[in-house]
Amino acid sequence: MVRSDSEERRREQSRNTADYATWRSIEENRGRERTRDAAAHASARSNSEERRRQQVQNTADHATWRSIEENRGPERARDAVARAMVRSDSEERRREQSRNTADHATWRSSEENRGLERLRDAAAHRITRNNHITGHRSKRTNTVHHRNTRLQQRFREQQIQEMADERLLTYRSSSQNRQAESSRQSQRNIAARAQLSEDEREDQRERQRRRSRATAREQYLRNIKDGPTKFCTCCGGTWFPSQVSGLNIRTISSKYPNFSLDNAFYLSRKFPSPSGKYQFCSTCRQGVSKGRIPSLCLSNGFDFPEIPECLKNLTCLEERLISPRIPFMRIISLGYERQCGIRSAVVNVPISVPDTVSVLPRTFDSTHVIQVHLKRRLEYSHNFMTETIRPGRVIQAVRYLVNTELYRKHNISFDGDWLNQMGAEEEIPFIADESDREVVEELLR
Ligand SMILES: [Zn+2]
Repeated sequence: MVRSDSEERRREQSRNTADYATWRSIEENRGRERTRDAAAHASARSNSEERRRQQVQNTADHATWRSIEENRGPERARDAVARAMVRSDSEERRREQSRNTADHATWRSSEENRGLERLRDAAAHRITRNNHITGHRSKRTNTVHHRNTRLQQRFREQQIQEMADERLLTYRSSSQNRQAESSRQSQRNIAARAQLSEDEREDQRERQRRRSRATAREQYLRNIKDGPTKFCTCCGGTWFPSQVSGLNIRTISSKYPNFSLDNAFYLSRKFPSPSGKYQFCSTCRQGVSKGRIPSLCLSNGFDFPEIPECLKNLTCLEERLISPRIPFMRIISLGYERQCGIRSAVVNVPISVPDTVSVLPRTFDSTHVIQVHLKRRLEYSHNFMTETIRPGRVIQAVRYLVNTELYRKHNISFDGDWLNQMGAEEEIPFIADESDREVVEELLR
């Protein structure tokens, strides 16, 4: 009756709780209670049915507890610490890795899973490529990888080639092998020719002809490559190396004892050869080997005389001052080497030859060439070329020339007065004589 009243029950419960708390506050009572609880717990666990029920209850309790987000946080932190501790042990990590690998292999053995994995990989790859930085990096990695692969491949090919070369060399070093090979090749050629039709054979012959023409052209170009570097000992002509052939002076002298070797081997004095062998062009060789002096031999008066030192390096004007004849012609400089060439007709102006040439050097009045030269320059607006002569040189040259056959023939003598007027050995001003000034100024006006 009393317990059925809920108000009365609540009051009783709170009274009991207070009594129990008072009882537990005594340490002796607490110990006794613990012992009793432990015994009850052990008895409950020994019963497997009871234990299973308790486990189910605990699991349910734990799930309820975890469903509260607040409780999950500390749990996660605790788990992370525990896991990090486990992973810090390398042995444990290795075990974990191998376990993961095995799991992954099992998972991949299913074709369905493989498909999924491929799709996922493709998507990840696309994202990587589309990203500018990672795309660039992956390209570079690929490039390096490809280059390494190529290098390895090339190295392998080279090794194979070297080995093959070595083997071939060993094989060919035996003359027996070489002979067998060449006879096999000629058999093959004969068999191949037998198979050809008449047209094809003609084609082959044409190819052969073309090949030999090409070879001839190459040979020709090789021969002329260095230019005409050889000279004929007899006529002094310059030739390409393929155009000359040798003759021995001793052979010729023993064959033709009365033959004038000095004339036939004209240049042998200037360019002696210890072996006695000299080069000849085909024409001269033909003549000399038959004991005849060729008609173009230098000894027939074709040799140029040596230019004496005093005539070398005279300027154009200096040459004209002392020459016995002055031809009038338009002479121009050719190219950068300033060789001279004649432009248009040669004009022969009648001049009094004895007046001009009998006394040398000429004064400015009588050096017609200078006056003509100046006039030509005056046609242009700029200054004419002012050329000075060196009387010392001119006198030296003229002293030599008046003793030559040509000058004696024209009765040319040396004018000592001119030398007295000039006096100087070195370069002098353009107008050397006051009497010339009038002539020059008239021209320049
Ligand atoms: Zn010759």
